[in-house]
Amino acid sequence: MNNFLSCDIQTPVDPRASYEAATQERKSNSPQSKSNRPTLSIGAHTKYWATGRTLKIAINRWDDDLFNTVKNSINQWAPYVNLNFEFVDLSDNDELFEGDIRIDLSPFYNKVAFSRIGTDALTTPANEVTMGLGINSTDENYSAVVIHEFGHALGRLHEHQHPDADIPWDREKVYEALQRNHGMSRATVDATLFPLPRDNSATYAPYDRHSVMHYQVTNDATLGDWEQLQNKHLSEGDIAFARRAYPST
Ligand SMILES: [Zn+2]
Repeated sequence: MNNFLSCDIQTPVDPRASYEAATQERKSNSPQSKSNRPTLSIGAHTKYWATGRTLKIAINRWDDDLFNTVKNSINQWAPYVNLNFEFVDLSDNDELFEGDIRIDLSPFYNKVAFSRIGTDALTTPANEVTMGLGINSTDENYSAVVIHEFGHALGRLHEHQHPDADIPWDREKVYEALQRNHGMSRATVDATLFPLPRDNSATYAPYDRHSVMHYQVTNDATLGDWEQLQNKHLSEGDIAFARRAYPST
């Protein structure tokens, strides 16, 4: 658990604003469109961008190499989504914060990466970034982290929290280690690491431990012999998600 990287998927401050932004962007984000039944729940809506649109991605560039690494990692998703990615270099532009997705590469976030989920970026004040990549860019997993965070920006949640995830966590040990090393409360661990309850209004693809949206799980965090190495490339499940969420037609 020493190389645990915390990823903070930021929940919206205002759930109704999140719902309205999502459904204005794309009608099918409303759960009503699936069943024709009116629903009082606004929590279960998806947050996908409108298909075919251009997504302007502003990157706070520290240097050419880093800009290109981030761009190339994000572009791993490009062949499988019906979206156009337009990359903007903030440092060459006086109009800061103009992107739909605004990425800060500052290492000062101290090993924390974070992202808004899909269209929640639209509810973020224009002078705030929507994604932070606060890890050392020389880390061997840097590209994997960028691909993972951009999965959130496309509207995807954590795969290790899939209701069917069958990871044999050593829960008490994990609580203790994350409290000691990262100051995380039990509630935070429950909310960010362990499987979430099934939402009956949501549609789930099968659990995919090889997804880029799955955390690395070390053997010392589980009971028995179970580990999952860092997934560095899009899995077949990731590609299926991308095609389903952003179809060509
Ligand atoms: Zn994440």
